[in-house]
Amino acid sequence: AKKKGKNKYTVYHSGMNMQSYRSFMLQNDLRKAIERQELEILFQPRVDTKTGKIVSAESLLRWNHPKWGMLFPNEFIPLAEETGIIVEIGEWVIRQVCEQLRNWMNIGKPLIGISINFSVQQFFQKNLIQNIKQILIETKVPPELIEVEVTESTFLKNEENSLLVLRELRSIGFQISLDDFGTGYSSLSYLRHFPFTALKIDKSFIQEMNVDPSLVSTIIKLGNSLKLSVVAEGVETAEQFKLLKNYNCDEVQGYLFSPPINLNELEALIATMNND
Ligand code: C2E
Ligand code: CA
Ligand code: CA
Ligand code: CA
Repeated sequence: AKKKGKNKYTVYHSGMNMQSYRSFMLQNDLRKAIERQELEILFQPRVDTKTGKIVSAESLLRWNHPKWGMLFPNEFIPLAEETGIIVEIGEWVIRQVCEQLRNWMNIGKPLIGISINFSVQQFFQKNLIQNIKQILIETKVPPELIEVEVTESTFLKNEENSLLVLRELRSIGFQISLDDFGTGYSSLSYLRHFPFTALKIDKSFIQEMNVDPSLVSTIIKLGNSLKLSVVAEGVETAEQFKLLKNYNCDEVQGYLFSPPINLNELEALIATMNND
């Protein structure tokens, strides 16, 4: 048993070294990523189930790293959270999104809402509300166009503080959605006490719909009865879409409609899909 333990340790350890080398490099590079303009926001459309039109888009970060190529958030967001850089990155995303909306307003493009993922650290950022208000003043963007996406794990860290911040964000006029719904713990009490406007059903439930759709239909009923807009994530097949439509799910998002795409592609897609 000892020998096995030792071997395991060796394998694990060398694996760790490679992994931590890359993490270490990335963590350092991340500090410069904003000023070097390596971060990019992609957008994934959210489609109104009834009209088939794009009503909003979720902003999803990508990091175009000069050495490692395009990196996905699963690799660098946790590193950004560890170092606290996420606060700066998060604020950068909010500003970019507001400036983009302002730009659409200036050139008279049809407007859609944009949702932004928030990390738990941002809820402890001292000047979060103040900075957001400042961005809104500068860009003159109607706050109703912005939706803040949060996961249940955010609240587990500090329920009282998150509730306070979410209420302030809601009173500014932002929409608030509960992301990855169903994967956390005590969702039901949160649903009643937090100022959510929408509920996003986690993609794992959508993927299981062909086996048993009853859970998804129940979540949609729950959301509707709480007057929440219900969004299905990770919709990949026409069959899933058809079922969700029958269950009165409000919005759908997933590869069936579009993967996350860049700004130009989004504008082109809006022009095609939202054209009567
Ligand atoms: P999320 O908020 O749950 O975002 C949805 C993820 O599902 C995205 O992965 C998206 O590309 C992917 N997805 C979309 N449609 C489908 C589909 O039909 N099938 C499948 N299998 N997947 C689909 P992505 O872009 O890699 O983002 C991963 C996570 O990173 C996000 O999960 C979010 O938690 C986080 N993230 C992304 N951008 C930001 C950001 O600006 N700030 C923060 N704090 N987190 C972010
Ligand atoms: Ca999200
Ligand atoms: Ca999600
Ligand atoms: Ca509804």
